[in-house]
Amino acid sequence: MFTSGATESNNLAIKGVAFALRGDGDHIITTMVEHKSVLAACADLEGVGFNVSYLPVGSDGRVDPENVEHAITPHTTLVSIMHANNEIGVLQPLQQISAITRRHRVLLHTDTAQSIASVPFDVQELGVDLASLSAHKFYGPKGVGALFIRRDGPHVPVVAQIADGNQEQGLRSGTLNVPGIVGLGRAASLMDQERNILARRVLKLREHLRTGLLASLEGVQVNGSLCHRVPGNLNVSFSGIDAQDLITLLPDVALSEGSACSSGQAAPSHVLTALGLKRAEAREAVRISIGRFNTESDIQVALASIVSAVRRLRSM
Ligand SMILES: *Cc1c(COP(=O)(O)O)cnc(C)c1O
Repeated sequence: MFTSGATESNNLAIKGVAFALRGDGDHIITTMVEHKSVLAACADLEGVGFNVSYLPVGSDGRVDPENVEHAITPHTTLVSIMHANNEIGVLQPLQQISAITRRHRVLLHTDTAQSIASVPFDVQELGVDLASLSAHKFYGPKGVGALFIRRDGPHVPVVAQIADGNQEQGLRSGTLNVPGIVGLGRAASLMDQERNILARRVLKLREHLRTGLLASLEGVQVNGSLCHRVPGNLNVSFSGIDAQDLITLLPDVALSEGSACSSGQAAPSHVLTALGLKRAEAREAVRISIGRFNTESDIQVALASIVSAVRRLRSM
């Protein structure tokens, strides 16, 4: 089903399934590190009487599948766990989680917005029942996305969140964004052809940057698992350096604080605090995203600029 993006898809999946299955149960399971659109949809549900369990993650940013199993009760109807995190790029063990949700006859939704451009995503292999995506995260147009809803296997009931009943079998009404959908489809087929080559190239660039930072500076820490991570993400802390100071000093390098969506806010990233970082440590985290338009020379410039800025800030 086509939507305006992953924000809408997440809201439709979580609220839509929760309300459709309200007669069977009122309990939903998610994690503490989800995108704000998932956390906000869950908060809305709590406001109307649902119970939501927010699972913790380890210091590597990953959910322990055993914790999913322990959290499931006879009232649980839906588990929503992202594929890759938008701040630290860490991949969740979806295959192990879906084995558990299947066994307990609970539906599984995942937000693939951050992973789909670089990590193969197969709904059969991963065993998910619903999946959200956003076209601009894989170089398609902004303002269009999709929600995958499984049509084979156990029925996945979803209550529409936009009333009218005309388009998309009544599940998402309003005239469809045809140019956006065509763009999404084209971007998806290009991504399918190029993803593996692109992922290898991006990983090489990220590893050049990461190893360069570690070799040149003391007190550099990568936040979250390195091996279970999308290739284009690097989230690093430079001890003693406030991320905002570093960003201000480097206007020509596109760095962001832990979370792009909440940058500028005073509160520390909910993802980094869930990893166990203290408030002050979370303020030291910088997110660097590498994508298909970056070159080796971009990495050299970024590396040299960051190293000299960190040295300068530390000497002050
Ligand atoms: C970007 C993103 C979203 C939201 O996508 P929109 O296109 O803004 O709706 C949701 N989840 C994750 C993990 C994202 O990275």
